[in-house]
Amino acid sequence: MVKKGLLVVLSGPSGAGKGTVCKAMLPTMPDLGYSISCTTRQPREGEQEGVNYFFKTREQFEEMIRNDELLEWAEVYGNYYGTPLRYVEEELAAGRNVLLEIDIQGALQVKRKYPNGVFIFLIPPSLAELKKRILGRGTETEESFKLRFGSAAEEMKHIHEYDYVVVNDEVEKAVERIRCIIHAELCSVKRNREYYMRLIQEGQNDAVSFD
Ligand code: 5GP
Repeated sequence: MVKKGLLVVLSGPSGAGKGTVCKAMLPTMPDLGYSISCTTRQPREGEQEGVNYFFKTREQFEEMIRNDELLEWAEVYGNYYGTPLRYVEEELAAGRNVLLEIDIQGALQVKRKYPNGVFIFLIPPSLAELKKRILGRGTETEESFKLRFGSAAEEMKHIHEYDYVVVNDEVEKAVERIRCIIHAELCSVKRNREYYMRLIQEGQNDAVSFD
């Protein structure tokens, strides 16, 4: 029997640096698959279909909701975002670990369906830094900046529903902290029950054969 993969959910407010952290971390963790989300948002410059997102119309997205094709979905800043269910299910069943980079509403839905996942909340070192980062992207209108910044304080109230909180003061440090969390989770007793139970069983059988 294949041991199920680990589902890692990374979320946090817009501007915390989830995207940057994932981009830096994924090449260093070949055993961690990345779930590409669907969205109805317009592609930003340089974003590619099937690499950053699967870009959908609202009609296509609503069709996916109706067909139960999404593990979770949410309306974030006026656009739909969602995680395709099949990829996650198939990877986990094959014993591979999967990373979701999603918003808080989505993470809480996933937690209800996969309580054994590991839920990591990424935060900026300060609200001043958060503001700088959102503005620094240069992709936000004044209206969308206000929306994103205004949601951040509200979203941080959900930290207690997560397993870990990681401060993204420097990308490399944040990546290392997340890598450590994943490695620790993969070694946790509760995730390795089958292995140690088999060892205990073998030990008992051996003890009998030497009698
Ligand atoms: P952005 O438009 O900046 O790429 O993403 C906006 C927000 O949507 C971010 O907080 C991002 O984590 C979140 N997001 C991206 N993909 C998904 C998804 O599949 N589901 C949910 N719930 N949120 C997502």
